[in-house]
Amino acid sequence: MTLPDLKSDCMNCAALCCVSLVLDKGPMFAIDKAAGTPCPNLGKHLCTIHDDLEPRGFKGCTLYDCAGAGQRVTQERFNGESWRDAPELLPAMMRDFANLRPIHERMTMLVAAETYSLPPELEARRAELLRKLSRLWADTTEQKAAFDAFLSDMRKFVDR
Ligand code: SF4
Repeated sequence: MTLPDLKSDCMNCAALCCVSLVLDKGPMFAIDKAAGTPCPNLGKHLCTIHDDLEPRGFKGCTLYDCAGAGQRVTQERFNGESWRDAPELLPAMMRDFANLRPIHERMTMLVAAETYSLPPELEARRAELLRKLSRLWADTTEQKAAFDAFLSDMRKFVDR
């Protein structure tokens, strides 16, 4: 099974986290920022204080990972285009990023679960979930329920 890249690749992303996400001023972020507003520290697509995030009050940015959703939305949904050059794309890019990130996070967890030598039934469910999630661009109630059920059964297996 070929999975999408589950590691963030900022060079191939249109800085979707730095424009999409809300920042709340406090221990994690030095400023308040609304969703859909580019962070003032953002260059065209890269952070201008990347090597200095924590001392500048942006520890939250060092802890964040899009699990590969950002570059996938940029490259596969928008052909590498950016809201910087085409601002009308921003709402759709933000929507797709918000939809895809939880799916990529779940795939990351399912990939990590491979290390547990699961019994065949759980392993089959893990592989099936990965296969289905890798095709989705937005969550479905059915997939959420299947993932939650898998996680619950996996916890029982790990806690035995
Ligand atoms: S500080 Fe840098 S990494 Fe954090 S949101 Fe702003 S531009 Fe992005």
